[in-house]
Parts: sequence; C-alpha cells; structure tokens
Amino acid sequence: MKLIRFGAPGLERPGVELEDGARIDVSPVCSDYTEAFFAGGGLDRLRDWVGRNSRSAPRVAPDTRLGPPIARPSKIVCIGLNFRDHAAESGMPLPTEPVIFFKSTTALAGPNDPVVMPKNGSKVDWEVELAIVVGRRCSYVSSEDEAAEYVAGYALHNDYSERAFQLERAGQWVKGKSADTFAPIGPWLVTRDELPDPHALEMWLKVNGEYRQKSTTANMIFGAHALVSYVSQFMTLLPGDVISSGTPAGVALGMKPEPKYLQAGDVVELGIERLGESRQVVVSHESTVRAGRAIAAS
Ligand code: ZN
Repeated sequence: MKLIRFGAPGLERPGVELEDGARIDVSPVCSDYTEAFFAGGGLDRLRDWVGRNSRSAPRVAPDTRLGPPIARPSKIVCIGLNFRDHAAESGMPLPTEPVIFFKSTTALAGPNDPVVMPKNGSKVDWEVELAIVVGRRCSYVSSEDEAAEYVAGYALHNDYSERAFQLERAGQWVKGKSADTFAPIGPWLVTRDELPDPHALEMWLKVNGEYRQKSTTANMIFGAHALVSYVSQFMTLLPGDVISSGTPAGVALGMKPEPKYLQAGDVVELGIERLGESRQVVVSHESTVRAGRAIAAS
C-alpha cells in the first residue's frame, strides 16, 4: 500500500493512494498513522479494509495538500556519510561504522510544502535520501534478516541542512538539521510488502531544473536493514520512527570552486524510484514572518 496523509498542516487525515492513482480517505478505519497505529496491527486492519471498501471509500480531491505520510514520530535518526562519493566531496574520511545524528521531529513537513530558510541562515543545502519507517518496537536486533521484519516501509526524504549551523557553530550536526520544514517526507509511505528490497532504487534531485544528485540506493555503504540493526544497538526504535539513510554526492557543500547554496525562490525537485517525487520552493524566514503578520491582521 501507499499511505498518504492529506489536509491542512497539523490537521491531516490518513489516506491511501490506490494502484490507479486515486486517493481515498481511510479515516473510517483509523484516526492517523501514529505509533499506536503501527504497534496495534493497524497496517493489517487497513489492508483488509481497503480491500473491501476501496470502491466506495470517499475520494480525496487531487489538489488537496499532502502532509508527511506519518504522524510526528518519536525520533528522526539520520545516517551521515553513507555514500563514498558524498564522504569524498565533504572532505571527510569513510566511516568504519555508521555515523548517526538526530534531526528534530518538528522539522517534519509535507512533501511539497515550501522549505523555509531559518532566521540568520544563509547556507541551506539539499540531500535526497531513502527514509526507513519502523513498524514494530525493537532493540538489539542482531541480524539484517531480522531487522527487515521491523520495517513498516519506505519514503522519500529531503534531509535539508543549514551548513553554517551544522559545521561552523560549536557542537553537533543537529543544529543545522532541525529547522522547521527541514524534513519534507513523502508523498507516500510505501509498505514493505510492496518493496521487499530497497537496495536498487534510482534516486535524483534537481535545483531549478538542473540535476544535482543522481545515484542509486545500491551505492549505500550500509544497507537499510543493516542500519535498523545498527541503530537498535544504541536506542529502542518505536513504531513510526524514521531512519534516514544518507545522501549521495551532489550537494551544494561539495560544489567546486565554491558551494552554491539555496536562495529564496529556488525550486528543489527530487525523487526515488517506486517512492514518488516531491517539490519544495525555498522561501525566506522574513517572508513567513510577514505572511504571519498579514494573517494576524486580517
Ligand atoms: Zn542526510
């Protein structure tokens, strides 16, 4: 199944995109794609319900905004430097084991929402990534085969960064990864039964129509199941948690002779085979403040 969430930010309802592209509202069978939904066998119930009711279920209007395909998770774990070419362009050594960092869960956004440059930020960068969504609580998962059982599915993610906050301010990468709108995920969560092996998917990203990243998940140093097992050695993974598996070469940080970071008005488009496409327009922090004032005054 392809899970979607639709409606205004914060008020999204759950839906499913059918084989023919039609989107149905599944709120009669579940209230949202939350930790409790995945933990309580929600996916099986939903599959059964969609099988019986897909023809009569209410349709979602095609122009309805899509939210992220999961409700806000307990954590977004990101993997750094998981592609050889990206480690090289970043001037960093190849990791001997996965590099882990966090992204705040308030960064979560819909796949086609504008990305907002943070206040005092000027080095906003893109990263197309395969996001793994956890389906069952787990810790200390010992093998990759076992780890596969804990996956709910996969989604497209743009792991936005503010490179000055990430690399030029004291401390860890999390400062540069956590601004609002810095984690657009979706359009869909594609369930694991539809995609048993996520390790040979084309992935790409364009800025203003020009390719910046073009690779495949086959080039990941550590595969999706290995990452679930690895991360679970350090923390309990809960249903709905996201592990974003790292980006290939082609980010602004790696551009020669110098990086060309995003500016307000730029358009970022990205996709992963089988996981759909997304599109974000870059807007300034000031423009959102002005828009907020206009709304407040009206
Ligand atoms: Zn990343």
